[in-house]
Amino acid sequence: MSKLSNIGTIKDILQRHEFQFSKALGQNFLVNPTVCPRIAEMGNAKPGFGIIEIGTGIGVLTVELAQRADKVVCIEIDSRLLPVLEETLADCKNVTVINEDVLKVDLAALIAKEFAGLEVAVCANLPYYITSPIIMELLEARLPIRSITVMVQREAAQRICARPGTREAGAISLAVQYYSEPKLLFPVSRGSFLPAPEVDSCVIRLDVRETPPVDVPDEKLFFRVIRGAFSQRRKTLPNSLSSCFQLPKGDVTALLAECGIPVSARAEQLSIKQFAEIARAFSRLSGT
Ligand code: SAM
Repeated sequence: MSKLSNIGTIKDILQRHEFQFSKALGQNFLVNPTVCPRIAEMGNAKPGFGIIEIGTGIGVLTVELAQRADKVVCIEIDSRLLPVLEETLADCKNVTVINEDVLKVDLAALIAKEFAGLEVAVCANLPYYITSPIIMELLEARLPIRSITVMVQREAAQRICARPGTREAGAISLAVQYYSEPKLLFPVSRGSFLPAPEVDSCVIRLDVRETPPVDVPDEKLFFRVIRGAFSQRRKTLPNSLSSCFQLPKGDVTALLAECGIPVSARAEQLSIKQFAEIARAFSRLSGT
């Protein structure tokens, strides 16, 4: 176990560098020594793998990743952490730190440059204010990555990993299912962080699929149908879809009947296959 897993050491480092936490950047650093080794082990940090870490903090997870994987590239937006990382990662010769906003990094180019000959996985204790954009960016870019293992807020974890057709499902659950097989791994209490956030967290892993579970000729339309259906959760499908696609409700009702879907159905009751069928039916209508 690394010396960084000790809360006394972490507090000392932060004090010496006069580091002030930024709430806006989602800075809640892990101080529970059991969590980072578990994320690393369950997140494919092993020989033959290169790891992208998003949001390095003072490097508590980084050192665990570096001990197990061939190479680690970290992306950290806060330049005030660079002198801290120089100290904490001094012994990790296989780590590169990139001081950038992850949403502005060309990840495909980064992978090609840094990880030739290696399998790639993403591991992170994510900044919660951009959980969904990061996850969707990683998935939609169809990067050559095997898995995304991330800590997110507990409610977000439940929503992201919800099975389509269940009450917890939302547009993001469907999108995540399309690109990956999501799993809830383990819960992490708010007391495991410094400063402690107001909610508990959960580590999830998304195993990226080689091919989607449904065949959709027009992905853009498929996701438009999903977003439209969930945009007004309380409404039935004919209502939400007719307002989203600006079509007469009768046309949408007929289209749903063609797909064998009851008019009283709501978005959270549908499977990914049913969404694909609706999208195919919409694509047959002109002007959508
Ligand atoms: N990995 C560390 C840990 O577990 O203690 C830090 C996790 S903390 C929840 C999130 C980290 O993401 C912070 O260090 C923060 O500065 C960084 N961060 C926030 N927004 C970011 C962005 N857009 N791109 C890269 N890093 C970001």
